[in-house]
Amino acid sequence: MGRMLNALSERSLEMGPARNAEASGHFKVATDLHGVVWMVLDRTDKRVNTIDRPVLEELATHIERFEKEKPAAVVIRSGKKAGFAAGADINQFVGASTAEIKAALDQGHQVLDRLAALPCRTIAVIHGHCLGAGLELALACDRRIAVSDATLGFPEVMLGLHPGLGGTFRAPAVADPVEAMTMMLTGRSMPARRAKSVGLVDAVVEERHVEAAVEAAFYGDLRHKPQSLQGKAMGFKPARQFAARMMRKKTAEKASKEHYPAPFKLIDLWEAHGGDPKAMQRAEIDSFAELIESDTSKNLVRVFFLREKMKGLKEGSSGVKHLHVIGAGAMGGDIAAWAAGQGLRVTLGDIKVEPIGGAVAKAAKMFKAVLKDPLKVRDALDRLIPDPDGLGIAHADLVIEAAPEKIELKHKIYAEIEPQLKEGALLATNTSALPLADLAAGLKDPSRFVGLHFFNPVSRMQLVEIVRHDKIGAETERRATAFAAEISRLPAPVASAPGFLVNRALTPYMAEALVLLDEGIPKERIDRRAEQFGMPMGPIELTDQVGLDIALDVATSLRERLGEDTLPAAPEWLTKMVEEKRLGRKTGRGLYDYDEDGKPKKISPEALPDDSKDDADMLDRLILPMLNAVVACIDEGVITDEEITDGAMIFGTGFAPFRGGPVHYARQRGIDEIVGRMKDLAGKHGPRFEPHPGWERLKAR
Ligand code: NAD
Repeated sequence: MGRMLNALSERSLEMGPARNAEASGHFKVATDLHGVVWMVLDRTDKRVNTIDRPVLEELATHIERFEKEKPAAVVIRSGKKAGFAAGADINQFVGASTAEIKAALDQGHQVLDRLAALPCRTIAVIHGHCLGAGLELALACDRRIAVSDATLGFPEVMLGLHPGLGGTFRAPAVADPVEAMTMMLTGRSMPARRAKSVGLVDAVVEERHVEAAVEAAFYGDLRHKPQSLQGKAMGFKPARQFAARMMRKKTAEKASKEHYPAPFKLIDLWEAHGGDPKAMQRAEIDSFAELIESDTSKNLVRVFFLREKMKGLKEGSSGVKHLHVIGAGAMGGDIAAWAAGQGLRVTLGDIKVEPIGGAVAKAAKMFKAVLKDPLKVRDALDRLIPDPDGLGIAHADLVIEAAPEKIELKHKIYAEIEPQLKEGALLATNTSALPLADLAAGLKDPSRFVGLHFFNPVSRMQLVEIVRHDKIGAETERRATAFAAEISRLPAPVASAPGFLVNRALTPYMAEALVLLDEGIPKERIDRRAEQFGMPMGPIELTDQVGLDIALDVATSLRERLGEDTLPAAPEWLTKMVEEKRLGRKTGRGLYDYDEDGKPKKISPEALPDDSKDDADMLDRLILPMLNAVVACIDEGVITDEEITDGAMIFGTGFAPFRGGPVHYARQRGIDEIVGRMKDLAGKHGPRFEPHPGWERLKAR
């Protein structure tokens, strides 16, 4: 089945006569017998189409010719297998001045306006991804025909922007305005059929029917869906004002205006100018130019490149087709499910059968949510094979051990399975804290042993720490890194030091929160303060999420290994809570109580007693020890690359992405200032705030 589908996906795209056209630039252009011009965008310099100045300038010269020669119709489509176009090339704005950015935007708008004004019918044929500026190009055409595999979207908000090439007024004009706004505000893309139902495209066809659909569009049979009554109403300001209020409320639930201004600006623009395309166009250009120079956008663009850099750590392929996972608990079950969802054959073992059953049931839920298509769900479930007898061990290219965090137990497992491993197979551990050298001690061949440290929940946390040790083989490290990237996770190579990078950095953040709690500050206010900084979850809620037992374990072992001065001692009441099995979210009770949906019951901070007695240093007490640990890791060589460090913290902890990562944040805020603050805090609260000597060396880098 899989092979047949692959063969079908190799089918050629319907290009009209442009298939054989001579191409001088990024477009291949040819005219068919009916006088219809087919333009195929196929960038000569890139694997996927992006829209930038050279492409738009070339388009302009063609349009100039069409204005004179008046063809019967113009069809625009992509010659790339992956899709229509992936959006604007963000590199083009890096380092440009405001005037240059505005000039480039003006010029781009003029080209698309001329395309939209051509007297002949213009038709975009869209397959695969059609994003950002790619969608804006398609929107400047009279009709849009989507091939059934198309996905359309405006991902600009993820970069702290909104559409900048006409999307803000063209999308609400052709599609349901509220749907179009929601698309731009969330950055979520939509599949072809949904795009048709909201009016963004006019037809959805299979590839083999593209030519017939083009003909229908040409002869006028393919009509554009008229706006609904509700859509039309949005032409009036009072209706927009009402809708805008709802949009602001929804957006504010997900992001703060201060940290993520773009969606709020877009709502303002639409509310003010939604009924007037020309005014909206002017406002879009000005607002886009302003946003692209904001710190938020610059940092989010940085995050985009950090992700690319981490993906780029992959060299060659891992050679892993069959994965075996030992331990079907919280982590092992999720790792197995994720890998199966990504196309690997996975066998899953445990000493008990119940966890395996539980893991498969959980996987089925996850597949339904992520893969959606029932056929894909079924195939993924077929690839996830319960294996209580461990028969898969001898066949696997990689075995990941995710058994409980006990060194004797892990040793026993390795002794049993190492002789069974097939030639060239890798052995990995998901340990959070045990030193790899100690774990490798009994192995006959430690060179193929590696740490693959996944984070909880695996489907949401993109980071995997690739943990090395003294005896690891270079090939093992290379293959483990490639493996993480192949299953769509982001690898960060780290040395086997206490807590590696992420847990070492997060522990002081959580531990200090408990000290603040002991000082009498309400937990809701501690969490709120960290969330205001931009953390996805406050430290108290995070401690519950991790599990009080695990948090206590990690904090105790880190304190033992790094020294008592580095971390506050865990409060006695925490040990008591663990003994009473009040472990956090997983038991329904921890520092917070949890409702049936697993949501913490919080008192609204406004309803809490006044905050005049709160420590004004609260935020720095939470954040600076985390930065200190990050700097220590860089200084001690746990992780070497500053950018990968920032990426790992963002993708492993959710560290405020709009701040560009902890190292970037520290540099922007000023290293001297931070060191000064830490000395000050050390004077007030103790040596755990002493700045690490690595700060001075970081400054000198
Ligand atoms: P867990 O207790 O949820 O699951 C462990 C599973 O291993 C259980 O199902 C158990 O039945 C099984 N098991 C026990 N002995 C076994 C044996 N001899 N052979 C096969 N299976 C056996 O534990 P977890 O939270 O999934 O943690 C597993 C590992 O992942 C630990 O090393 C932990 O430190 C690490 N880790 C945990 C988290 C987390 O948030 N839970 C995050 C990262 C890493």
